[in-house]
Amino acid sequence: MVPAREALQRLREGNLRFASNERGSDPFLSQARRVALAAGQRPFAIILGCSDSRVPAELVFDQGLGDLFVIRVAGNIVAPSQVGSVEFAAARFDTRLVVVLGHSQCGAVVATLEELQRPTENQSRNLRAIVDRIRPSVEGLLGTDLRRNLEELVRQGVRANIRASVDHLRHGSEVLEQLIQNEGLLVVGGEYSLETGLVEFFDGAREPS
Ligand SMILES: [Zn+2]
Repeated sequence: MVPAREALQRLREGNLRFASNERGSDPFLSQARRVALAAGQRPFAIILGCSDSRVPAELVFDQGLGDLFVIRVAGNIVAPSQVGSVEFAAARFDTRLVVVLGHSQCGAVVATLEELQRPTENQSRNLRAIVDRIRPSVEGLLGTDLRRNLEELVRQGVRANIRASVDHLRHGSEVLEQLIQNEGLLVVGGEYSLETGLVEFFDGAREPS
């Protein structure tokens, strides 16, 4: 079992390799690795990330087959099936680190802000389910001066949305709460920059769990 702090360090180092164009994961994509993993997996981190095509978790953290248990959904929102997926991996594989990975210029956050400012008719029920989960974390920002600065509004909205997902995972599941209290499970947020390729971890990533 890889302790949470060590797992976080691995992700930081992998991301630095990626951002500096020194990717090293090729042996971890090899046929031998694939064959070895057929017997079982022990992913060292769980990533709940956005579906955005520019933010594939394995690539931006320079990891290979079997390293990351990845859940991707537009806007890195937390609905019951996401909580269940995290519970499953944390309980079954003893994975001790969960990262909610949002990113700059997230389209789902932008779409939610647009929807709040100018509601569309006939929005699909399914799309609405995503917007409704992002809405509470960005709604308050529209009541401030930020509404005049779209770039900053989106930036803060992305962060608020990541924090909301972290919070939901930390407090919205008895299984995860127990693992946090007794087994050293760590749930942290991270923001990937489309511009630099770097992930900035925040929201409790520094202090001990
Ligand atoms: Zn996104």
